Amino acid sequence: MGDAPMNEERTLILVKPDGVQCGHIGHVISRIENRRYEIKALKMVNPTKEQLRQHYSELVDKPYYPGIEEFMTSGPIVAIIAEGDEIIETFRKMAGPTDPTAAPAGTIRGDYARSWGPGPIKNVVHSSDSAESATKEIKIWFPERS
Ligand code: ADP
Repeated sequence: MGDAPMNEERTLILVKPDGVQCGHIGHVISRIENRRYEIKALKMVNPTKEQLRQHYSELVDKPYYPGIEEFMTSGPIVAIIAEGDEIIETFRKMAGPTDPTAAPAGTIRGDYARSWGPGPIKNVVHSSDSAESATKEIKIWFPERS
């Protein structure tokens, strides 16, 4: 522990349907635990279209949104709240870039995802990109906590 100020954060992580179907729930959880972040809540969910429209509110008007909706409703997902210093930036680095082809080996997307051609990008995990997004997304997937 250094002298840098603490920045304890919470983030919302989703193991997407491809991650669940391909047996990567445990791998994602292990990577969270290996970095000594704390899992505060975890559950399996069948996402509704309404939850997805809220979660992806910045993408609903994109031409590829129907593909995202179809992909994200193709099976259950696992929603996780994880906590720790600088976890938002750190977990985004652990996940790797959106495009699996661009994701370096060693990242979650670089190890467990690849391109499948046209259509929704199947990239195993989601994680919040800011503290504001985390607050919003935790309400969407864990409404019973508020
Ligand atoms: P990230 O998940 O890396 O934060 P975005 O918020 O930009 O990325 O996009 C959300 C999700 O939408 C991506 O993870 C991916 O599954 C899907 N997606 C993003 N851009 C595209 C695209 N151009 N074509 C198909 N699917 C996309």
